[in-house]
Amino acid sequence: MGYYHDMADINGTLLQVSELTKHYGDIRAVDGISFSVPRGTVFTILGPNGAGKTTTLEILEGLRPPDSGTIEIFGKRVRRVDRRVKERIGVLLQEANFEPYLKVHETIELFAAFFAHAYATRDIMALVSLTEKRNALVKNLSGGQRQRLALGVALVNDPDLLFLDEPTTGLDPQARHNIWSIVTGLKERDKTIVLTTHYMEEAEALSDYVCIMDHGKIIAADTPRALAARLGKETMIEFTADQVPAAARNSLSGRFPQLRQDGGTITLEVADLVPALQHLLGWAAENGITLDNLVIRQPNLEDVFLTLTGRRLRE
Ligand code: ATP
Repeated sequence: MGYYHDMADINGTLLQVSELTKHYGDIRAVDGISFSVPRGTVFTILGPNGAGKTTTLEILEGLRPPDSGTIEIFGKRVRRVDRRVKERIGVLLQEANFEPYLKVHETIELFAAFFAHAYATRDIMALVSLTEKRNALVKNLSGGQRQRLALGVALVNDPDLLFLDEPTTGLDPQARHNIWSIVTGLKERDKTIVLTTHYMEEAEALSDYVCIMDHGKIIAADTPRALAARLGKETMIEFTADQVPAAARNSLSGRFPQLRQDGGTITLEVADLVPALQHLLGWAAENGITLDNLVIRQPNLEDVFLTLTGRRLRE
């Protein structure tokens, strides 16, 4: 144990992955990825469905062997993530299957029994705001409560490193924000968190570092701010408009060659905001177009993904 702690503290890196690969037949699910996760940070793998995020996490959680590559975890190089490492990690799988007729506190106690060192059940319930639901049956929990229970179960062994696979997929905005504030609280307790998501807002809200994954490869990695800054000094103008005739659209894209249209939403990437706005307002008046929901914003991670791949994160 001492060895693990010492090595991790020297370089401040809890997890380092080099040239990791996993193929399923012809599918290169994970295609030679490398990254390192500093202690006490939230590290996010952002990518669309099928990018290889879950496969990467499953390898790091010890659920799947890699085809090749090296993993250094808690300062020790391992071929596979074994039982000793598992004692120190927490895992939130994409689909948690709990026994529906157990109570919340019984579910946490059941999982705590697997570990030599476990948090007190009441502390776990407080951490994930389920104290009031301690005697509720799992089958009667809402989606958000169930996900908080899954997060509580991932925390039973007081792990140093947590893997959260798409922790808020399918949750409503309030339940999503509850999970976000728990994750932020965990970081304040010096936990290191690796999470996957295809929600750009989630990556922006939580991450210290983001790596963007697509087709099994990491195509960009940095802080969210630095990733967005890669698009240069451009500003984004976005609006929705009901009907934009082809001729009007073409005249606008003549002035803004970077124009993107997604359904009724049009996004312009502009270098010089004031003349661009003047032009846009003139264009709208000339063509009798109402600009609804007009927004001026900085580039976000979705813009970065679009620029790199030509596709949206969620299509
Ligand atoms: P999602 O958000 O949909 O879970 P993901 O980024 O987590 O996507 P993976 O689940 O890792 O992606 O899948 C990566 C690729 O590997 C996909 O093309 C997927 O179809 C394929 N794949 C995943 N698991 C298997 C498996 N057990 N057998 C064969 N192919 C698989």
